Amino acid sequence: MIYDYVIVGSGLTGLIIANRLSQETEKVILLESGDHIGGWLSRPHLPFYPSTQSSIRCLQNLESLLNLKIIGETVESSPVTFDSGELKPFMGFGDKAPDFYDEAAYFCLPQSVQLKLKPSEWIEQLKNSFKGTTSTKSIVTRFQVENGQVQNVLVNGTKKIQGKNFIFCGDIKDLERLIPHDFNGPKVRTKISKTKTWSRATLVIDHKVPVTDSTQLHVLMGTSQDEIVTCLGSFENTQSLWTTFVADEEAEDPEITAQALKRIKRQIKRAYPESFPDGISEKIVVQSGFGGHFDVKLNANQTWPDLENLWMGSSGFQTDRNLLGALKQSWLVLASLGFSVSEDYFEEPNFTVKEI
Ligand SMILES: Cc1cc2nc3c(=O)[nH]c(=O)nc-3n(C[C@H](O)[C@H](O)[C@H](O)COP(=O)(O)OP(=O)(O)OC[C@H]3O[C@@H](n4cnc5c(N)ncnc54)[C@H](O)[C@@H]3O)c2cc1C
Repeated sequence: MIYDYVIVGSGLTGLIIANRLSQETEKVILLESGDHIGGWLSRPHLPFYPSTQSSIRCLQNLESLLNLKIIGETVESSPVTFDSGELKPFMGFGDKAPDFYDEAAYFCLPQSVQLKLKPSEWIEQLKNSFKGTTSTKSIVTRFQVENGQVQNVLVNGTKKIQGKNFIFCGDIKDLERLIPHDFNGPKVRTKISKTKTWSRATLVIDHKVPVTDSTQLHVLMGTSQDEIVTCLGSFENTQSLWTTFVADEEAEDPEITAQALKRIKRQIKRAYPESFPDGISEKIVVQSGFGGHFDVKLNANQTWPDLENLWMGSSGFQTDRNLLGALKQSWLVLASLGFSVSEDYFEEPNFTVKEI
C-alpha cells in the first residue's frame, strides 16, 4: 500500500492533522512510537488557556473539526502569589524573573478561556473520528529519500512504509538523525543541537480534602535566595497541580529535579499549612527535551528545505511551546495543504507578564 499521508507522532499536532486529512482520503497512517495515542496531551494540564484573538481562533478551528463546543466563558484569572506571609495579587516577577520566563508568561494571564472539554478529552474525540490507520509501538527511525522526495519511512529499523506525503509531528531534536545528511547540513544540525531545551517537572497532589476555593493561578517564587524555584500551580477540588521548568542539561541529574520538587512542596505548605495531611498521594511527570524555539528556516509551506513532500507539523517550530503552539502549527500545515483555515491571525506579540 502507498499511503497518501504518513504522519509521524500522535500528539495533538499529529492527531489533528491526521484527523482532518482522513476526511479526504482513508489512505492516512498515523505512526506512534509509544503504546498510547495522544503524546503529552494525556497528562493533566493547568486550566488556563489564553483568551487572545489568535488563540480563540485556534480553538474555533478545533471546534469545527470535531463539531463540538470547546470554548467556554472568558474569565478573570489574574494570578496570585505568596509574599510576606500572605497571598497577594501577583504584580510581576520583578528581579526574580525565571530563565523560563517565556514558558511562564503564557500562564500569567489576566483573563483566560474556560475549556468545556479538557485537553485530555480531545484525544478520544480526535481518535474516534479518525478514519485512517493507527499504528502504535512504531518508532520511525529514518526518512528514506530518492530523487529529492521522501519515498518511505523505516519503522523500528526494518519495516518500510511508503507514502506520497510525510508529516513529522515528533520531537525536533530527532530530525538530526531521521533526515539523511544530504538534506540536513552541518549548519542545521548545529542549530538543532544547540537549541536550549527544558524539562517540565509537574507535580500532581491529591490533598484528600479541598484546600482552597481559589481557582486562580498561583505563582510561587520562594522566599530566600537558596530556595528560589518559581512554580506555577492551581487547585481544583481536592487536587492541585504544580509545574516548574529545569534546563535540560541540569535535569540530567535527577537530584536537581527532585530538589526543585521538594522546594515547591515547601512553598505550597507555607502558603497553605494544612495542605499536606497524612496519606496524601503525589504523582510526578517529567517531560524532557521541551521548549526552546528551533530556529530552522522551513519553506513557506512548512516543508523541510529541499524536501517538498516532508511537512513539519511539530509544535517545536512555534515560539509557544504549549497547547497554543501545537494548535497553531497544526493549522499552518493544514492551511498549506490547501484546507480552509485562515493563517493571518497567527502574528501576535509574545506573551509578557505585566509588571506593576
Ligand atoms: C505534564 C504536562 C503538563 C502540561 N501542561 C500544559 C498546560 O497546562 N498548558 C499548555 O498549554 N501545555 C501544557 N503542556 C504541553 C502540551 O501538552 C504540549 O505542548 C502539546 O501536547 C504538544 O503536542 P505535540 O503534538 O506537539 O507533541 P507531543 O505531545 O510530544 O507528541 C509527539 C508524539 O510523537 C511521538 N513520536 C516522537 N518521535 C517519534 C518517532 N520517531 N516515531 C514515532 N512516533 C514518534 C511521541 O511518542 C509523541 O506521542 C503540558 C505538558 C506536560 C507533559
